[in-house]
Amino acid sequence: MTSADLRRLLTFLLPATFLGLIIEELFLTLVLALSSYIFFFHLKLNRTLKWIKNRREDFPTNLGVIPDALDNVILSVSDLRKRQRSRKKQLRTILKEFRQATKALPDAVVSLDNENTIRWANKTAIRLLGIKIPDDVGRRIINVVREPLLKEILEADNKKTDMVRIKAPREPNKIMNLVSAPYGKNQRLLVGRDVTAIEEALEARSDFVANVSHELRTPLTVFKGYIENLISLKEKEPNGKWHRPIEEMAKQADMMSKLVEELLLLSKLESEDTIRNPESISVSETINQIHRRATSLKNTGSQLFSLDTDDALKIEGSGEELYIVFSNIIFNAVRYTSADSGVIQIKWQRTTDGLPMFEVKDNGIGIAQEHLLRVTERFYRVDESRQRISGDEFSSTGLGLALVKHVVERHNGKLEMESELGSGSTFRVIFSKEMISSRPALSKKSSV
Ligand code: ADP
Repeated sequence: MTSADLRRLLTFLLPATFLGLIIEELFLTLVLALSSYIFFFHLKLNRTLKWIKNRREDFPTNLGVIPDALDNVILSVSDLRKRQRSRKKQLRTILKEFRQATKALPDAVVSLDNENTIRWANKTAIRLLGIKIPDDVGRRIINVVREPLLKEILEADNKKTDMVRIKAPREPNKIMNLVSAPYGKNQRLLVGRDVTAIEEALEARSDFVANVSHELRTPLTVFKGYIENLISLKEKEPNGKWHRPIEEMAKQADMMSKLVEELLLLSKLESEDTIRNPESISVSETINQIHRRATSLKNTGSQLFSLDTDDALKIEGSGEELYIVFSNIIFNAVRYTSADSGVIQIKWQRTTDGLPMFEVKDNGIGIAQEHLLRVTERFYRVDESRQRISGDEFSSTGLGLALVKHVVERHNGKLEMESELGSGSTFRVIFSKEMISSRPALSKKSSV
């Protein structure tokens, strides 16, 4: 109780005491005085509570004189209200800015709850995915956007999922990459990016490379024809002055042919999503062919090979494409391993999980970590001086592992690489269980 409140109470009690003494009813007058003071306090308290509940006015207007204690309560509540109001205003501004930002986002953004029902969507999502706001709020997204791949990414439990590529439902000429990311309490953010321009640029690049490669084929065939003629005339040149240049020309022409063929193949793989005419492949037979080829070429050293293959394990796929995978990895092991002390271990077995696995381990020069992630890029070479032009499989075009990666992806496989500079490398391809073939393998002639 403050001193003012005490004074106020005394102004009630003192006259009552005098009156009580005069009329000789001190107890009664004191009780009456205290009761009226309590009544007065109660009245002000009630009005204060009404004002607190009312929330509209900053200060109560009908209280008149009030006890200091109540005055303090009113001041605190009023201050709290002001702060709350300014915080609300701030939050409203942030929310407004956030809404404007998501509206302006070039990416489609949809917020989903744990049942995958739509909570909100931005402008791009409305335009590309065909979501209607507010009509579709509360509806399951798979009933609004009818896209089987969408179901796939939504079913992945609480992890950031892989990207899926879909045609925009509302604008089918547009290609979108969709990804779903968890946030908050079992909520998900579905983010879709329009990648049509990137896809078109990649397609244009691929077409250009394919066209140039195609155009180079004819003049190259002519060159090679003339070079072969020159080689056949070699014996007639008595002093042998032209022997070396002609051999070099032949090697370079073969190398160019290999490069052109690999570029055309890469373009072909890029333009086709699915494997044409998959067949049952006996991988161990293919490995044996490549091994025979690798050991018979004149550029091979005397590396030690060990083969551990499961003859019964066959996979479904394109024989021609898979030959590229296995041969590139094996020829690389030979190419980058010492001719005298090289050891190359080739495996075609099931993993402990029963997945088909092709593995080549060498004890060659190895690859430093900073290069390892980039060796599957086109023309990426760890060291230009490693480039070899031999006119056969040992020629390095810089496209080998790019082709490998592409084919492996097309066959639902995973390429794994482990290496350390100076300590050899391991290249591993693991295929999915669905790729295992139960059909008898097609017996094929060597592809080389
Ligand atoms: P290239 O035709 O140059 O061999 P690749 O795409 O096959 O091209 O390989 C890319 C690069 O990766 C090579 O230039 C080489 O430096 C490195 N590389 C590939 N396989 C091996 C290996 N088994 N050991 C060491 N380096 C390797």
